[in-house]
Amino acid sequence: MKKQWKCVEQCGACCYLEPSERPFLGDYLNAEQMAEYMALVGPDGWCINFDQPTRQCGIYATRPAFCRVSTEVVESVYGEDPADLEHWAAHCCRDHIDSVYGETSAEMQRFNHEVKI
Ligand code: SF4
Ligand code: SF4
Repeated sequence: MKKQWKCVEQCGACCYLEPSERPFLGDYLNAEQMAEYMALVGPDGWCINFDQPTRQCGIYATRPAFCRVSTEVVESVYGEDPADLEHWAAHCCRDHIDSVYGETSAEMQRFNHEVKI
């Protein structure tokens, strides 16, 4: 059965952090969070902690708050209604997957297969 939201395997689109692809960063990250974000951006735009071959986070247990999908983070960092968490997260994922891999990519197909539209 499809879920309202889940992080699907073999994706990692949200770990592509190139700031020019995230024009609204300054709207929701405070100065400290912005510095933390910028310190993660590698020369190719991907997070320095993202392991390309496995597409996994190398610091998963200690990843920054802005990398987490939780009711607390969605409200405190992104200013969204926690009741809309899954809807908001699914929308963000599709945006990231579209911009990194493309609308018709295998990653988008996997996501749409597991998450309700
Ligand atoms: S974009 Fe969504 S599905 Fe892809 S890795 Fe990030 S949270 Fe998971
Ligand atoms: S810290 Fe981990 S979850 Fe956050 S962007 Fe980097 S690789 Fe992705």
